[in-house]
Amino acid sequence: MRTSARRVLCVLYPDPVAGYPPKYVRNAIPEIDVYANGQTAPTPQGPPGFQPGQLVGCVSGELGLRHYVESLGHELIVTSDVDGPDSVFDRYLPEAEVVISQPFWPAYLTEERISRAKKLKLALTAGVGSDHVDLGAAAQAGITVAEVTGSNSVSVAEHVVMLVLALVRNYLPSHAFSELGGWNIAECVERSYDVEGMHFGTIGAGRIGLAVLRRLKPFGLHLHYTQRHRLDPAIEDELALTFHSDAESLVRTADIVNLQLPLYPSTEYLINDAMFAKMKRGTYLINTARGKLVERDAVVRAVQSGQIAAYAGDVWFPEPAPTGHPWRTMPFNGMTPHMSGTTLSAQARYAAGTLEILQCYFGGTPIREEYLIVDGGRLAGTGSQSYQLT
Ligand code: NAD
Repeated sequence: MRTSARRVLCVLYPDPVAGYPPKYVRNAIPEIDVYANGQTAPTPQGPPGFQPGQLVGCVSGELGLRHYVESLGHELIVTSDVDGPDSVFDRYLPEAEVVISQPFWPAYLTEERISRAKKLKLALTAGVGSDHVDLGAAAQAGITVAEVTGSNSVSVAEHVVMLVLALVRNYLPSHAFSELGGWNIAECVERSYDVEGMHFGTIGAGRIGLAVLRRLKPFGLHLHYTQRHRLDPAIEDELALTFHSDAESLVRTADIVNLQLPLYPSTEYLINDAMFAKMKRGTYLINTARGKLVERDAVVRAVQSGQIAAYAGDVWFPEPAPTGHPWRTMPFNGMTPHMSGTTLSAQARYAAGTLEILQCYFGGTPIREEYLIVDGGRLAGTGSQSYQLT
């Protein structure tokens, strides 16, 4: 092993079991240069070390970073082994200057791990959502936390729209009937409704939440939101949005509740038995934000009692979810592994954004303000608008 003074330690999810690279079903992906809020997509210098559309979020894909990092004479370690004190991650952490991790297979940077990472300067989230880093401990240790803000907002928003329709129309059980050879229409439709005319409420209407509201508008739903910062009145008018001053008010009104806020200490377990009791019977709950925003067993109780009609999303705690996690098998669930923000389309953007951030870091130029979560010992950039340390 080369002992470089500057080590980049990158944690990615394992390769497909059938081998790498996979056989791609399409030859190319559309080019997206600008996001809906006017922010430009990542702009690394020079071509990224991959073809857009390739699977780069797994270990063999290396986010396409190896050529760039090694051309600077630095060391790149890529692993998916993050569990336990003998993990590859823990062995390489003390000498790492940069840690790259994805929310889909997080390397939890706890206070204890941060205390052992004496050389760590940059914790870079390849994706969006940096709650796997103890942000308070990172701020105290002078570590910069950055993420590729906006890179997968539409990817997740499309997933949420899919889940709204799948749950309300009873798509998943009906598909299962079809696969099993059945034709009992009554069983398919006894839980199937139109979304038109229903009330949809999102807790958090930032980049993803607002993209969901925009996409649902043509379905004829009544749209509601709550969040820390009220949206521009022009947007409220355009989408005919109802603002709620708190989550309790929103869940009393909505037929479909969507979670799209970050996880930090005071949002942990926001949705618990008491909050379920405030919802209308038969509410649909969708969570692609973070698993720990909801109490695991309260969800199971609510879905079993019929207080909620169904629960769907792709986020769990911890991740990867244990095989015996009750959300895998509880009735009326539309769960998947954490996948909505790592489509091949999203990977092209967040891998390019990871390269852009590394180029800024190693080149000594400022990282874009919107990519910053913690900097200079405090919340910064997007971090100061979206997170709290308590
Ligand atoms: P964002 O920062 O653009 O928006 C988050 C919004 O939440 C902000 O507008 C903020 O005001 C609001 N908020 C913060 N605290 C709140 C509170 N207590 N109550 C109500 N609103 C509150 O972030 P985003 O890009 O829209 O992403 C939102 C979250 O989605 C991320 O933090 C991440 O956890 C999750 N995410 C998941 C995936 C996935 O693959 N499933 C991908 C990307 C992001």
